[in-house]
Amino acid sequence: MQFEKVYEPQRFEPHWAQWWIESRLYEPDAGRARDTRVFSMVIPPPNVTGSLHIGHMLDHTIMDVAARWHRMKGELTLWLPGTDHAGIATHMVVERQLAAEGLTRQQLGRGEFERRIWQWKEEYGGRITCQIRREGASVDWSRERFTMDPGLSRAVREAFVRLWEKGLIYRGEYMVNWCPRCQTAISDVETAHQAVPGHLWHIRYAIPNSNETVVVATTRPETMLGDTALIVHPEDERYRHLHGKTAILPLLNREIPILADPLADPKFGTGVVKVTPAHDPNDFEAGKRHGLPFIKVIGEDARMTNAAGPYAGLDRFEARKRILAALEASGELVKVEPYTVNIATCDRCKTIVEPLISTQWFVRMKPLAAKAMDAVRSGRIRFVPDDREPVFFQWMENIRDWCISRQLWWGHRIPAWHCHNCQQITVARETPAICPHCHSTELEQDPDVLDTWFSSGLWPFSTLGWPDQTEDFKIFYPTSLLITGFDILFFWVSKMMMLGLECTGDIPFREVHMHGLVRDAERQKMSKTKGNVIDPLIVMDRFGTDAVRIALLISAAAGADIALKEDRMEAGQAFANKLWNASRLLFLNMERSNVASWTPSPATSTYIEDAWILDALNRATETVNRALAQHRYHEAAQTLWDFVWHEFCDWYLEVKKLRFREGTGQDEHWTAALSIYEAMLRLLHPFMPFLTEELWQRLETLTSAPHPKSISLANYPVEPFRAAGDPAPFALLQNVIDNAREQRADRKLDPKTTFQAALRIKGYEFSPADLSIVSTLARLTIEQHRSDDLTAAFDLQFKLGDASQNGALTEEARGRILKDMARQQRALENTDRQLNDPTFVSRAPEKIVASLRAKRAEYEAQLAKNKKLLEGLE
Ligand SMILES: [Zn+2]
Ligand SMILES: [Zn+2]
Repeated sequence: MQFEKVYEPQRFEPHWAQWWIESRLYEPDAGRARDTRVFSMVIPPPNVTGSLHIGHMLDHTIMDVAARWHRMKGELTLWLPGTDHAGIATHMVVERQLAAEGLTRQQLGRGEFERRIWQWKEEYGGRITCQIRREGASVDWSRERFTMDPGLSRAVREAFVRLWEKGLIYRGEYMVNWCPRCQTAISDVETAHQAVPGHLWHIRYAIPNSNETVVVATTRPETMLGDTALIVHPEDERYRHLHGKTAILPLLNREIPILADPLADPKFGTGVVKVTPAHDPNDFEAGKRHGLPFIKVIGEDARMTNAAGPYAGLDRFEARKRILAALEASGELVKVEPYTVNIATCDRCKTIVEPLISTQWFVRMKPLAAKAMDAVRSGRIRFVPDDREPVFFQWMENIRDWCISRQLWWGHRIPAWHCHNCQQITVARETPAICPHCHSTELEQDPDVLDTWFSSGLWPFSTLGWPDQTEDFKIFYPTSLLITGFDILFFWVSKMMMLGLECTGDIPFREVHMHGLVRDAERQKMSKTKGNVIDPLIVMDRFGTDAVRIALLISAAAGADIALKEDRMEAGQAFANKLWNASRLLFLNMERSNVASWTPSPATSTYIEDAWILDALNRATETVNRALAQHRYHEAAQTLWDFVWHEFCDWYLEVKKLRFREGTGQDEHWTAALSIYEAMLRLLHPFMPFLTEELWQRLETLTSAPHPKSISLANYPVEPFRAAGDPAPFALLQNVIDNAREQRADRKLDPKTTFQAALRIKGYEFSPADLSIVSTLARLTIEQHRSDDLTAAFDLQFKLGDASQNGALTEEARGRILKDMARQQRALENTDRQLNDPTFVSRAPEKIVASLRAKRAEYEAQLAKNKKLLEGLE
């Protein structure tokens, strides 16, 4: 058998990834649904503009473990992949492309622009799915979906119309975050907030027919042109006499009322606040409360409107400068003080957003949120871990209506038509030819498109054929599990819950497992500016996909953030190599032996190592299955790591190697070893699919028994293997060998020399064959006695040979001890020199000094120990 000395994942991984897809292993046959349990998941659809980042890889790795585990347990498993059309993101990509050609989308026109985006999608939109293929994710590519597919677009229309018919969608004037660059309303979560140094300007307003004036403080003087009132707090005694009076708005000389409203904070500035209902969310509410006029002085392009009088046409920041200059000239600018202001910027383009009133489409969220909260409260949807639940409830209880219209050209166009004749709106599933209200043909579709989260909110059921009651929808909905990062709980998870319950009458998923963010080794968030981004494509090439997977899994305790260190991935690579080498040893030895073929049967052996490893395997099997059922993926991965490395490779195989050299019992040894090994590969497969597939295929050439074509279709070990026999004798063997190694190290005995030793054991005796294994691994020639009067389980005494040999040994040991002591003495003196230097001690950080003192104590202890050993030799 050809078996390479070093495992090179790069040679095997692309091959298996491709073979899994070509063999159509992960396309569930719906016909089996009657006889078996069903497990289904949808992939969180990545942006079609995106490329794979480490957060995706964590998502996909955990999902793949879950999918492979359920599939191997015989469940009908569907993991559905796809991508999101990503409204603003795609818009910007293609607009940039146009800009490079000196074009704008307005010049191109809506139809042509949409065509360009589709063209872009055909050319580049496959990048992210290619990368998901590279990961080896066991998704069903035959069911791949895109949010703009005809089927999904139909689902979007259906959902919109149903919500409209139930009165859950309405059109309204609303204060929205407007991005003047992107020319669209953006949601709160699409804005970034930051505190920056700014100013508080104090402006004097005159009270007509009196000598009195009031001073108003503002951070945005350009909005004053839109002021329609001043307010004071109802309880503010300073201004009680002004209730119901008016003030003159400087520059424009407009007379505006002074009102009492609790919105005014007596402690802010002078306690008098200007009200600009068209340009501030709080003022918008106050304007509605008092029936004030809404004067829009800043337009969608962030330039001043005609209502701004002499400032019309100016950019908002230029207008600010001119207004301040004018106020200063007229003496109405009383005071300027530094002040920290909070500004909101567009997440995409960093432009400062402008709160603007516009007519938008909204979803009434309260009734939807009530159903979603109920689903969580009643346990129909479970959060794992559940410590996120309070945050969820708090957010849902305070939910605001969702502005779903976007002024973009790429996305699902709102299925509403405006009649130019009677001004009525018609919302319909099919494009109407005439206005149902007045029979006019003067109809025009609403220009806005829906927020991307509207279609991704339908993802768990629109992908399965809803609104039709398709076979797939009936079998796979509700989905079993959603795995995602905590960061999109509100963006996405809650929307799927609300829209799923409203549209299908059922929950979209039964369980939600939320993992933390992947951070760098110093627990910092990864970002391009910090340069600490781990690119999954690079590390997959460097360490192998399996190594990155196991590193991510072991680091991923549910809910907590993940510090991904390079040495974890290196360790993952070493782990893959360890298993590869163990396999090589097994396979090559088997080829050399006369054992021709093997049938799995782990529990027939009478050897002590087999009883022990079977017991360990049973425990690992139980732990792994329980951990996976409870979404403790890190625990499952760690358990298998320990079993493979420390139990199977370090102990079991070391002992079996010696057995293979003996003449007797070969069939029994091979059957046991290969059976354990094969079960171990199956256990490990969901975690390291590539390596285990490669090894399993090689192993299968050694057997004539019928087997599935891929390890991913083999049975997952769930039940314990038959009663394993007593693991205690082998545990005793391990203890004796460990004890021998410790004694050797303590006495500085040459690790390669074989010594004589007497072993007394309480209530047990090793068979001659087992004893010879102890002797070989401990490098001892052992004389064994059973002695039931021992208090400990055993006692191992080294006999350091006859006088001459003893003398030679003593000399050798003395040499080693003296060398050791000299080194420790030097280290001690060095430390003392530093500690006795008063300048150093006074200037060095306390932590350093403390650690030096600790080191000094350690050197002293080592010296004392060696001194004692030396005395023992004499
Ligand atoms: Zn923007
Ligand atoms: Zn009409």
